[in-house]
Amino acid sequence: MATIIDGKAFSANLRGEIARKVEIIKQNHSLTPGLAVVLVGEDPASQVYVRSKGKQTVEAGMNSYEHKLDVSTSQDDLLALIDQLNNDPDVHGILVQLPLPDHIDEEAVINSISVDKDVDGFHLSNVGRLSIGADGIVPCTPLGSLMMLKDHLGDLSGMKAIVVGRSNIVGKPMAALLLKESCTVTIAHSRTRDLPGECRQADIVIAAVGRPEMVKGDWIKPGATVIDVGINRIENEDGTTRLVGDVEFGSAAEVAGAITPVPGGVGPMTIACLLHNTLQQACRLNHVEIPVERGLHQSSLFEVVSVIISSHV
Ligand code: NDP
Repeated sequence: MATIIDGKAFSANLRGEIARKVEIIKQNHSLTPGLAVVLVGEDPASQVYVRSKGKQTVEAGMNSYEHKLDVSTSQDDLLALIDQLNNDPDVHGILVQLPLPDHIDEEAVINSISVDKDVDGFHLSNVGRLSIGADGIVPCTPLGSLMMLKDHLGDLSGMKAIVVGRSNIVGKPMAALLLKESCTVTIAHSRTRDLPGECRQADIVIAAVGRPEMVKGDWIKPGATVIDVGINRIENEDGTTRLVGDVEFGSAAEVAGAITPVPGGVGPMTIACLLHNTLQQACRLNHVEIPVERGLHQSSLFEVVSVIISSHV
């Protein structure tokens, strides 16, 4: 039976570490990291995410600025708000909750965010930096997934990894991070031939597909590490609903060496990494070193992330 990688505990540790570092920079540099979250419209799922981000930002000792705009807000008005946040010295991270209403050009909005405040890591410049292995801001979900992998496996160099899914927010940045870690990376998608066979060769399987329980246990190489990014709500026979991942957990856990559950795996890491990125950018923008905690050695979770971000190919 596989080791269960506990994303909830991992995330709580990382957030605790971030809160201690925030306290140090507040005391030593009178600097309080600030995260601005912009929500346009009233999509229920987005509202839940925004609330949760705001709550965890405050719990980490940072300032949270929430901007809730009407669904009919024009693109020009949204861009004007982003411009104001770009120029606000108390704001170190800006996140525009996606999806945006249809009349707004998502790409134009994302690329209007200052590269140094783009804590989602979606700005073209940050995408480019990641693809050449330069310092930048790494998207939160792939970053959280990589942290769990490195914590579990240590050095990933030379391992075969498959990323199932090629989206811009998960699949592609995940593949770029694994390449940076010197894995041999396969990116699979809906046109991939013999997906089970491709998966069976991998030491690391990342599932980011958005299809409930698609990856089966007999697709997994014995002992492989499985990171399930998928979050799918499905209906039970009695009409209630539950969350499942993109991996069939029961059968995969019998074969894998380690696996993340859904819920409680990658999900909780995403907001923790958003806080990490905000703290990192508050420090970078103010030319302050990210504090290293006395007594914690280099392998602390936070240092793992910092090493991931600053390592070059
Ligand atoms: P997208 O829908 O943007 O991308 C899905 C990818 O899966 C596409 O590249 C698609 O291929 C591929 N795909 C679809 N069907 C198949 C198939 N049958 N075989 C192989 N590949 C297939 O999804 P996201 O990347 O945004 O999200 C993926 C999952 O991760 C979702 O469940 C989402 O909810 C979850 N998620 C979780 C987060 C978290 O915090 N834990 C954050 C973000 C996402 P093609 O390109 O060929 O169409």
